[in-house]
Amino acid sequence: MSIKGRLLGSAVSRWSADPWALGSWSLIGRHGTPQDRITLGTPVGTRLRIAGEGTHPVRAGMTHGAYEQGVAAAHWAIGLGHRRVAVVGAGMAGLGAARALAEHGADVRVREARDRIGGRTAGAEVAGGDFDLGANWLQQYDENVLARLAERLGLTMVVTDFNDPLVLGGGAPIPDGVEEDLRTRLAAAAPGAGMADALDEWLRDPAPWTREQIHRLVDAEIVMDAGAPLSWLSARHGFEPGVGEGDRWIVGGYRLLTEHLAAGLDIRLGRPVRRIRAGAGGVRLDGDDVTYDAVIVTVPVPVLAGGSIGFEPPLPAGHRAALRRLGAGRVEKVILRFDERFWPEHGYYRVHGPAERCISEWLDATVADGTPTLVGLFAGPWLDNVWAGSDEEIAVRAAEVFRSAARTAS
Ligand SMILES: Cc1cc2nc3c(=O)[nH]c(=O)nc-3n(C[C@H](O)[C@H](O)[C@H](O)COP(=O)(O)OP(=O)(O)OC[C@H]3O[C@@H](n4cnc5c(N)ncnc54)[C@H](O)[C@@H]3O)c2cc1C
Repeated sequence: MSIKGRLLGSAVSRWSADPWALGSWSLIGRHGTPQDRITLGTPVGTRLRIAGEGTHPVRAGMTHGAYEQGVAAAHWAIGLGHRRVAVVGAGMAGLGAARALAEHGADVRVREARDRIGGRTAGAEVAGGDFDLGANWLQQYDENVLARLAERLGLTMVVTDFNDPLVLGGGAPIPDGVEEDLRTRLAAAAPGAGMADALDEWLRDPAPWTREQIHRLVDAEIVMDAGAPLSWLSARHGFEPGVGEGDRWIVGGYRLLTEHLAAGLDIRLGRPVRRIRAGAGGVRLDGDDVTYDAVIVTVPVPVLAGGSIGFEPPLPAGHRAALRRLGAGRVEKVILRFDERFWPEHGYYRVHGPAERCISEWLDATVADGTPTLVGLFAGPWLDNVWAGSDEEIAVRAAEVFRSAARTAS
């Protein structure tokens, strides 16, 4: 039997196993609040500051939030008169910081653990096309500083309407009004309550909705958005703003932005920082013969929390407490290129199934160069069933999830 749509190539992410990411994006745990993000980004004395997406109070978990925090940290260093500055990490925050520092005439060196720039933006070439295995969209488009950069560079972008998914896999649609109800309930949750506590209470008395409708909404909006256990995630603060405000993806990938930002900077690849010593005389990094005036650290929250960088003196108690209350979820991505399209044209798809509590969302990236391409994001407890074995096995399994759901639409 021939199956319509032969797989030509694929790529698979493993963000949660990657030692330089340990998850997808930062989240607020049940004992945390947005104040923890602010605390984490508060300068430590006059020589050390942590930046990165996890420190943004209202744009966390997004590239433009990371970039803004990097630029803010650079201005802090410049304002203090620092001339020689180290930046740890060459993701959006690190690139934003380093570029702003260089533009103000500072002598800046970036140390990056991986052998590539971009951090959690990562390009993947699949069967001749360039796609993103990390960040995909420019979110909150109208107020997104990187969107303005993309426009200046003349990049081609495609809008995704997250409010209009083609829902595949059968089952009850999510009626209007449930999401508003969800937001009201979460805003009223007790401080310290986990998302699971708030939802369990709702599920005990779901009227006027059905339990199935509530489960579907939670899978689509919270599980897909966070990828963290609902018992850990904060009910009040775990559903942060982001997706769905005219988001656009960049044809050719985020690398078109990161390569532009990195041009001309002194970036040392494959050089993880393991120890930072900050004292009255300056800052020293392990393996570096330079004494810096200041250091800006942009590594992801779980990497910092895991102690992979030793600080002398140790980070203040407030910063350490903030790190314990923040965390990261697991959302993984697959890129699949086919020889022909076997799915209905729509642009953005949400798949519930094949089993209960399985959720994935899909972007049709075919417009990039005309070759039928799907980009899938998976989250939730069921993710482990797909993300097992080799990349090829994962790709085939993920393709089957979409393929069987698409059959329900035809
Ligand atoms: C699957 C996925 C999809 C996403 N989708 C979107 C999206 O559509 N839109 C959006 O806006 N955001 C999205 N995000 C989130 C976005 O990618 C991040 O918020 C953003 O890229 C984080 O930038 P950052 O600079 O704070 O951290 P990172 O990009 O993680 O950069 C930190 C850098 O530090 C390096 N590093 C770590 N430890 C060390 C060390 N000890 N020494 C030296 N270097 C070190 C890392 O290698 C990395 O390069 C997505 C993320 C994932 C994983």
